[in-house]
Amino acid sequence: MSNQRSSLSPHVLIFPLPLQGPVNSMLKLAELLCLQNIQITFLNTENIQERLQNCTNNQNYFKKYKNFRFETVPDGLEEGNPRTGDQIPNMLESIEVKVVPILREMLGTCGAYEPDSESPLTCIIADGIFTFAVDIAKEIGVPLLYFDTISPCGLWTYLCLPKLIELGELPFKDDNLDEFISYAPGMEGIIRRRDLPSFFRTKDINDRILQLVLKEDKHIPLAHGLIFNTFQQLESPILSQMLNICPNIYAIGPLHTHLKTKLAAETTSSSSIWKEDKSCMSWLDSQPTKSVIYVSIGSLAVMTKEQFFEIWYGLVNSGSKFLWVRRPGSVSGLDLEFEFEFDKIPLELAQGTKERGKIVSWAPQEEVLAHSAVGCFLTHSGWNSTLESLVEGKPMICWPYFVDQQVNSRYVGEVWKIGLDMKDTCDREIIEKMIRDVMELKKDEFLKRAEEMAKLAKESVSEGGSSFVDLDRLVQDIKLMKL
Ligand code: UDP
Repeated sequence: MSNQRSSLSPHVLIFPLPLQGPVNSMLKLAELLCLQNIQITFLNTENIQERLQNCTNNQNYFKKYKNFRFETVPDGLEEGNPRTGDQIPNMLESIEVKVVPILREMLGTCGAYEPDSESPLTCIIADGIFTFAVDIAKEIGVPLLYFDTISPCGLWTYLCLPKLIELGELPFKDDNLDEFISYAPGMEGIIRRRDLPSFFRTKDINDRILQLVLKEDKHIPLAHGLIFNTFQQLESPILSQMLNICPNIYAIGPLHTHLKTKLAAETTSSSSIWKEDKSCMSWLDSQPTKSVIYVSIGSLAVMTKEQFFEIWYGLVNSGSKFLWVRRPGSVSGLDLEFEFEFDKIPLELAQGTKERGKIVSWAPQEEVLAHSAVGCFLTHSGWNSTLESLVEGKPMICWPYFVDQQVNSRYVGEVWKIGLDMKDTCDREIIEKMIRDVMELKKDEFLKRAEEMAKLAKESVSEGGSSFVDLDRLVQDIKLMKL
């Protein structure tokens, strides 16, 4: 290492999985590192970048940091190809086959491989599912940190997968999903078959997604360290287990709160790839405290038409006020323009919705959850959504869809006891009962737990808190990484 090189600022390439959730968390991490004078190249796919730019509320974001720049690569998918949840395996394959060669070339021309270039990369932070990143980091000769943006408890079930197969737990021998699994260190007596990621339910061990998970399992220990959007007090038994896989773990979440704390009075930027409908904020302003149930299934989950109507009836029959995000494409076989025409839907739904409901296609979710009128979140249990709700002390009703969500919802219901787990059912009566439980009958109990948890989350990112200390360690470690 030359003297000249050691005076250069550290330069990190961040490469998220091109989906809303991972992009959100990685951008928060990027901002936190920028604030510590670390140079960031944030690699987006062209599709994500275009969508970010189209959301005009992101303009501030692009101008905010001098030591921040975006680079783009194609995602390798055809123009009209949807970037939906069911396309994730295709997307990963096309990134690996078509995008990685472009990335290699790009890194070559931007000087990453050349020790004398002006600003060589000194570290790569990639999504944990990007197994190819291990080879790329090796070629450039820089450390690789994996940032798995799903929950550690979810990732831990991935890491248990080889053993579960070896023990014959998978594929499940029968249809009894209530059976507890025999191998889950740190999760004993918590996880049943039904609480494992939904794609573990396959009868075929060669299933494409399982194979991707097994590949990820092999690569994760090869990274220099693992970054998680969590905090010690939330998942300490799991984080202890993870240390056996990778001894260098940084638990620095909840990232959005961590960033807010560091920015103090400055407002944080939206990283939304849908246009937010802010009209729901003035609607919330006119509602009584903790009277509204907020409903959203995130950016990828899809429900059937039947499930859509069960949820709608459940909401209306509960008598609660509700704010519902109906993302275009989130109901299979239904053009979501349709339900705004109230004359085409059952009268009781139309009336109940007019009286007590507000529907938007995309909401400023962090703001919504922070609003005092919101009393509960009916969520698909995506990890960002879970943390956003937890930090605001809002109890949840969980209706998980895939990936880590089945595990998250179990933790919300059974371990943290800040909500109810509604997985594997979608029935108007159950929905109505759960809403009444959380909003009325057991309201105090849930609120007390949720508020305690929110306090712990906030303490973790305050000076001296566990996430604060881990971020500091991450920053120092990155600053010591020189070629
Ligand atoms: N989100 C939002 N507005 C909405 C719905 C979701 O801003 O109307 C954001 C939410 O705040 C979260 C992200 O989209 O940060 C969704 O990520 P999550 O991990 O919860 O679920 P995913 O979309 O990946 O399934």
